[in-house]
Amino acid sequence: MRTYIMLKPDALKRRLAGEIISRIEKKGYEITDMKMFTLTEDILKEHYAHIANLPFFPDIVKFMTSGPVIGMIVEGPDVVQGMRNLMGATKCLEATAGTIRGDFAFTNGENLIHGSDSPENAEIEIARFFGK
Ligand code: UDP
Ligand code: MG
Repeated sequence: MRTYIMLKPDALKRRLAGEIISRIEKKGYEITDMKMFTLTEDILKEHYAHIANLPFFPDIVKFMTSGPVIGMIVEGPDVVQGMRNLMGATKCLEATAGTIRGDFAFTNGENLIHGSDSPENAEIEIARFFGK
């Protein structure tokens, strides 16, 4: 199984990319593709369609386009749920210690990492960002 992981601009600005990639590697998953790029508002409206009409979306666009991101394809058994477990909950106060967000995120918006929420969405997101 494979999933789409994206290190958000705060992860790069805070020099946490290495730490986060290291956790993915130590878990045993395989990173089979990786690239650094900058998101646009158009692709975010597509990627975040489920939150695009919520009041905080303009802030998310500003944040997510504020610097480069690192997109990755990560592979392993049950990796979609496994990566969600490593990431921790969306909201910083609900993310438990030991998870990436629990250990390093202190706001709900700037929470360091994106991971697909289902195997179906993983394939859609891999196609969107890697064209494969
Ligand atoms: N988000 C936010 N406040 C919320 C919900 C979401 O700022 O109440 C932001 C946050 O950056 C989150 C992103 O919107 O990562 C996408 O939301 P989603 O519900 O898909 O959470 P995720 O899958 O990233 O845990
Ligand atoms: Mg999501």
